[in-house]
Amino acid sequence: MSVLALLALVAISAQEKPPESLIPVPSWDLWQNSAAGSSVTLEVEIAGKKTRKIVTLKEKTASRMTFEEIVDVDGKRRPATERVLSKPAGSPGVYDTVGVSGDCKECKKPWKDHKPMERIPLKEKRTIGQAEVACEGSESISFGCDGKESVRTKFSYSDDVPGELVRKEFRDKTTEYTITCLAFVKK
Ligand SMILES: [Zn+2]
Repeated sequence: MSVLALLALVAISAQEKPPESLIPVPSWDLWQNSAAGSSVTLEVEIAGKKTRKIVTLKEKTASRMTFEEIVDVDGKRRPATERVLSKPAGSPGVYDTVGVSGDCKECKKPWKDHKPMERIPLKEKRTIGQAEVACEGSESISFGCDGKESVRTKFSYSDDVPGELVRKEFRDKTTEYTITCLAFVKK
């Protein structure tokens, strides 16, 4: 194999991220109202392939949270890994905001000439295992420079579920996947 062909192959495989990387990693804020022993099972389905991740909060102190994460691909379970979160230095809920200024880098027109994102709030009840949970969320539709739909996402969250994510649906021109909470233990 030529060096160029090998480089092309490396570039292609680097683009294909493992499905479990689509599942959001635990966040300090979203696990704050869960105690040690809480767990959540999230499943991502992409191109007909299902990958599960079981996240368990093993230890919690005022400044640290230690999680165990187990990834399950087509029923084959990988060894557990550990993730440690330290308390963020900033206040909860304070994030960097990205200002929308200047012109679009793609079509060079000002942002105001673009169709703005549509956001539809949603409230629903979902059944997870034996439990019915009250969810809030939203459906967001972004548009490209041509005014056509580019990205559609739908989120459902619930305070009852550790990490809060109950369902996410994502669709753009090349990718479509869903993340569903299959089970949870709230302590
Ligand atoms: Zn544009």
